[in-house]
Amino acid sequence: MSSPNTAAHGQDPLPPLPFDPARMLIAGHWQAAPDTLPLNDPSTGATIGRIARGGAPEIDAAVEAATAAMQGPWGAMTALERGRILSRLGALVLAHADLLTTLEARDVGKPRTQARADAIALARYCEFYGGAADKLMGETIPYQSGYTVYTLREPHGVTGHIVPWNYPMQIIGRSVGAALAAGNACVLKPAEDACLTALLFAHLAQEAGLPPGALNVVPGLGAEAGAALAAHPGIHHISFTGSVATGAAVQAAAAANVVPVTLELGGKSPQLVFDDADLDRALPFLVNAGLQNAGQTCSAASRILIHDTIFDTVADRMAEAYRAKTIGPAETDPDIGPLINARQRDRVAAFLHDGDALPVLAQTPVPKDLPPGGYYSAPTLLGPVPSTHRLAQDEIFGPVQCLIPFHDEDEAIAIANATRYGLVAALWTENGGRQMRLAKKLSTGQVFVNNYGAGGGVELPFGGRGLSGHGREKGFEALYGMTSLKTVATHHG
Ligand code: NAD
Repeated sequence: MSSPNTAAHGQDPLPPLPFDPARMLIAGHWQAAPDTLPLNDPSTGATIGRIARGGAPEIDAAVEAATAAMQGPWGAMTALERGRILSRLGALVLAHADLLTTLEARDVGKPRTQARADAIALARYCEFYGGAADKLMGETIPYQSGYTVYTLREPHGVTGHIVPWNYPMQIIGRSVGAALAAGNACVLKPAEDACLTALLFAHLAQEAGLPPGALNVVPGLGAEAGAALAAHPGIHHISFTGSVATGAAVQAAAAANVVPVTLELGGKSPQLVFDDADLDRALPFLVNAGLQNAGQTCSAASRILIHDTIFDTVADRMAEAYRAKTIGPAETDPDIGPLINARQRDRVAAFLHDGDALPVLAQTPVPKDLPPGGYYSAPTLLGPVPSTHRLAQDEIFGPVQCLIPFHDEDEAIAIANATRYGLVAALWTENGGRQMRLAKKLSTGQVFVNNYGAGGGVELPFGGRGLSGHGREKGFEALYGMTSLKTVATHHG
């Protein structure tokens, strides 16, 4: 099947595709939806194609297909066979890394190097969960004499996956990868702003031998397809990544069916820089962890907490790094591309308006000669910012970082923990005792010492506290979360 995509006058069309982006995958068939939605390129604002607008009836059909898959060949497969399919899928993702990169650059506005990193991460998730599928084991439990007790890790059944637009490939890899490895059948609702790589992934999964119905993909609007999936009584587990408000709505809908939910809702993640930090090593992490993907990252380091004796030095060096950043269309592979859409750009602008009175340490200008229509936002470094200011408390999801001074360890921890979020934090200090002491005191799901993100780490459990959500993705923890534990107690005398 080839793409019938059209492009607005003067815009590059999408490359030839092995699937039709205006279709959904349900029960192994690429089906048209009753309606379509525009597919926009954030680098130019141009409409470059159409995607399916699935709704409640399409979600019903997808859940039915997944239910049938659990009762058919997919449900009967051994863990080894599931693992082999995922491993093949990982190899196919690698072989299609160029096309995945191009689609993500066009669909999300993500600079090519960053988009490629996501494609490689998607392959890694398939490899990791492919290898892990037959290593997911229960336990035997010592019990009263006359009994043998063991646990079985069984799939939930049909799992729903509601994915945002900022890291579609990584989030599909970590949630769908784990769900399939554990033997679930999936219904995936990609974001209306970014579903091309989800569709190519589904096409490759078919090629890898995934049976019909094991993975169904229904693009559509959040209020239509997303809400229908969250409320569906045929779903047994939901993974959601996105905003706090939508996550809470998804959890409420799932609660009506008493369905477990994993929520990953972003954060206001701090990096704490002490006066003994190796600043040469820290600098790129301090800046890039805030500006990667134009700041549209759940674990963006949007707060930099700096020991007051080195505040000016760190601020100056970060400002210098800001001034060197390149901004442009994703296809030209700049450091910073556009935001996903006009709404997100306006949201960031409204935050900056609220921060009008804050000192601006650097603001990288958006070049005047970019193609018109892109959703660019000038990277902005602010500081010192009062730790209670709205810009230091709320998730901005744009290329904005707040620098906040602290005087000692106690104050640093108090500021770090004083938001309602709790996803990720980093400590920059050469003092081993301080590393251990403070890692325990940070209220987050991950702490990095003298690094930020540890290179992505598909093996490393990830998730938050407070408004950042609950449940863990990535690593073996995600596999456990994708299973229902059964205890079998046999009395044999
Ligand atoms: P969103 O949470 O509304 O969208 C995320 C996903 O949820 C999309 O697939 C969307 O279609 C779906 N959705 C929307 N409404 C739904 C509903 N009622 N029921 C079920 N699914 C629904 O996020 P957004 O509006 O695209 O972005 C707004 C803000 O959310 C951003 O500025 C950012 O702060 C935050 N966000 C966080 C992440 C993250 O990685 N944690 C990702 C995207 C957005």
